[in-house]
Amino acid sequence: MGHLSRVARLLAIAAMLLASFGAPPSVDAFSGFGAMRADATYGRDMTFSVQLSGGAPTDLELLLDFEGTDATFVAPVTASGDSATYRWDANQDYVTPNTSIGYRWRATIGDRVVTSPEAELLYDDDRAGLGWGTATVGDTVLHWVGGAEDQARHFGDLAAGAAQRAEGILGHALNAPVDIFVYRDRDQFFGALGPGAREWTGAAAYPELRTVFMYLEGNPQSYLDSVVTHEVTHVVFADATDNPYHRPARWLNEGFATWSEQQSAADQRPLVASMAGSGLLAFPAIDEQFPIDDTSARLAYAEGATMIDMILSQHGRGAMARLASAYRDGRTDAQALRQATGEPAEQLYRDYFDSFGAAQPRPVAPDPLLPSIVRTPSEPGASGAPGPGGGPTAAPADGSPTPATDATPAWLLLVLIAAGVVIVAWAVWRAASSARRGG
Ligand SMILES: [Zn+2]
Repeated sequence: MGHLSRVARLLAIAAMLLASFGAPPSVDAFSGFGAMRADATYGRDMTFSVQLSGGAPTDLELLLDFEGTDATFVAPVTASGDSATYRWDANQDYVTPNTSIGYRWRATIGDRVVTSPEAELLYDDDRAGLGWGTATVGDTVLHWVGGAEDQARHFGDLAAGAAQRAEGILGHALNAPVDIFVYRDRDQFFGALGPGAREWTGAAAYPELRTVFMYLEGNPQSYLDSVVTHEVTHVVFADATDNPYHRPARWLNEGFATWSEQQSAADQRPLVASMAGSGLLAFPAIDEQFPIDDTSARLAYAEGATMIDMILSQHGRGAMARLASAYRDGRTDAQALRQATGEPAEQLYRDYFDSFGAAQPRPVAPDPLLPSIVRTPSEPGASGAPGPGGGPTAAPADGSPTPATDATPAWLLLVLIAAGVVIVAWAVWRAASSARRGG
């Protein structure tokens, strides 16, 4: 058999496959949704199933609304007979435990769209051996792993007090209770947080889920006590500043949570003072992300806490309530700070750095780009350092950056195309010969 006939035969097979995929589904008599079921196994999967009265509709979708987001996840689902099942692989796509998921089924038959009632699935941490206990203490729902009840109840008392104090200062009550999950050891805790967690994390709050996770093993009691206060304060702050436009500056949020641990910034002040000579962080530089290295991260928390302390002592306890209310009205960070203090944010920052005798932080200029060390065909002898005559990568004498010639060289494109042609030809030959053997 010649090449051409092999290819023709392959194309015919492909056309047959396409035709079978594209065939219209058998005419349906879908008349509505029957029983719906959902089940979750932590770290493994969530499954959603539904009965289809009268058979499958032309198009079927599952709509998932995850707590804490405004987006709806839409999954096309293929029915099998008079039922359909969708499986979310939670091992592949991490979901934070204690997330509640609203789900609905949607069928489309021609112009007609039928949506099922909404039901709720709680994706909880049901890993074997945890043996959860639970109790409600004030605005807190406590969950503890077997044996940790006394500790958990102690944290419940601390959390209730912390929430009450934060509500008082921010002038806003919690929108709903807070869940606190107390794990015994590090592995249980990190198993709940998923792959993105930083290894030094000792506790974590998910204000959008109104949930705090923490663990006992190896953490001193004083640390655990302040962690509970800190994380619960984050949930109150999130409620008090909630708006559809943006989150408040990170330094404000972390600063308030840190200040709330002792209702003071006395523990943070020495760190800021000790760094005042070598340069502090500008507040607009820490309104989204904190630095990744430990010292700078601790400085960011400390600046936030000491700034909150300054605002409260200079502008009274009503300042934080005015700040929170400005955020709820959709104000920017600068507008909210002005509403809280009557001063422009810039003035507030200047006063802050002056109070530590620190220089006002200035933007750091980027270093110039170094010359490229990529070997190109026009420089057969290129060895990393630009030669004296200078190819396109040579740096000018004044050290200013040269626009890099980073277009892919033509020879590389040719090699890639040639490799692609060989692979495709090989695949076609393999498929054709196996089709010949099979048929
Ligand atoms: Zn925090």
